[in-house]
Amino acid sequence: MSAPRASPPFNSILIVGAGPSGLLLALLLARQLPKIEITLVDTLEALDTRPRATHYGPPAAYELRRAGIIQDVRDEGFLPKKITWRKLDGTVLAGMDGDVMEGVTEDRLVCLPLDRLGKILLKHLETCPNVSIKWRHKVTGIGEDTAKGKAWVDVMVEGQTDSIKLEADYVVGCDGANSQIRRSLFGDWNFPGRTWDEQVVATNVYYPFEKFGYDDSQFHIHPEHWYMAARITKDGMWRVSYGELKGLSNEELIARQPMKYEAMLPGNPKPHEYKITNIGPYKVHQRCAEKMRVGRFLLAADAAHLCNPFGGMGLTGGICDIGSLYDCLVAMHEGKTDDSILDVYDEVRRQKWKEIIDPFSSDNIRRLFDQDPENALENDEFLKMCKRTETDINFAREVAAGMNILRYDFTPHFKSAKATNVNISHKEKTST
Ligand SMILES: Cc1cc2nc3c(=O)[nH]c(=O)nc-3n(C[C@H](O)[C@H](O)[C@H](O)COP(=O)(O)OP(=O)(O)OC[C@H]3O[C@@H](n4cnc5c(N)ncnc54)[C@H](O)[C@@H]3O)c2cc1C
Repeated sequence: MSAPRASPPFNSILIVGAGPSGLLLALLLARQLPKIEITLVDTLEALDTRPRATHYGPPAAYELRRAGIIQDVRDEGFLPKKITWRKLDGTVLAGMDGDVMEGVTEDRLVCLPLDRLGKILLKHLETCPNVSIKWRHKVTGIGEDTAKGKAWVDVMVEGQTDSIKLEADYVVGCDGANSQIRRSLFGDWNFPGRTWDEQVVATNVYYPFEKFGYDDSQFHIHPEHWYMAARITKDGMWRVSYGELKGLSNEELIARQPMKYEAMLPGNPKPHEYKITNIGPYKVHQRCAEKMRVGRFLLAADAAHLCNPFGGMGLTGGICDIGSLYDCLVAMHEGKTDDSILDVYDEVRRQKWKEIIDPFSSDNIRRLFDQDPENALENDEFLKMCKRTETDINFAREVAAGMNILRYDFTPHFKSAKATNVNISHKEKTST
């Protein structure tokens, strides 16, 4: 007679936030653990359509592949080829060619505006009977019943006067930069880090950059008019994100946009020469929560950490959190480890932010405004590295795969999971 099977460590997961990280976690878990009940709640009535992420690095592509959606993402989006760093007059200083990874790996930098990624995730989630999505549900408070082994959230449902309680074995806060889960755990103003003086305005625009010999993505180095211009759709929409002065209101920032475009873009266009479809001013931050696990509450992606958008490390890092959390929860459910693996998740993901995402993304933005473009090629080690990739293909491949350092293989921590003994060397081999 076989031994009775122990009951699984959890049967239900509540994910707060139906942004890209919450949707992806739901999809990964739903497909691997079809018997658990997954509930997503979101304040909004539908997907957020603000102009935000567009580029997802190789480790994010790996997770999108594991979720079974990479082909859809590639079909709707595209694989960017060249990225260059330029002076404001368009002179190329150095560049990197994405095509060096052609035939080398499936997991390549991929470009697709976030709202379209969200639609793909939703379409796939519709095929998962164990997932329910509750829009217009705003989480306002949290609690944990340790005796019962449950976590719960207070939720205000739009149009109703009384709040309701939703309960689950674990609650994952994927509720973005202003996360209520994080605020409830650590306090409203406790999100350690800093805010940049510089503000960023992100615009989506139709303008024929190709006519000026522009590549798929370029970063312009200039003390005042620093900006990024990247093609983001197959039909020729571009993302132009530029730096602005501190202290300006949103209205002032929007009013200055025609002046900024005329000063920055090739051809110095007037408003009738381009068509803007979205404009969004953003304050940019480098912040990381104190912990990404407290009891039965977990944090992931923007709810846990933020970085400026130059270099596309925000959601790429967030998606790596999701892949890690998925690996840990599945291993727990399959009895390969106990819940102390979630403390390892917490330590690993915060360390990845602190040692990789924060310093690299900070360098990415500073590089654009904090150096003389005339001397950049002589002084900037990163640009020198890019220059070398132009003639050394093996080195170029190494650099292109570099972001995979954000992934992590948790299997060595299974069973003996003890956060205090964690040795989370970034050189550790990642699982495939
Ligand atoms: C201009 C710009 C460009 C960027 N470009 C890139 C890029 O190219 N590559 C990249 O990797 N990253 C990029 N990023 C970062 C990226 O957009 C974010 O990291 C990503 O959107 C975070 O996803 P998320 O799911 O964690 O949070 P969000 O997308 O913010 O989703 C959070 C969800 O939670 C919901 N929510 C919030 N509070 C509650 C509550 N109390 N109750 C219920 N629901 C709630 C919200 O309604 C929302 O739907 C960029 C960011 C900006 C601003």
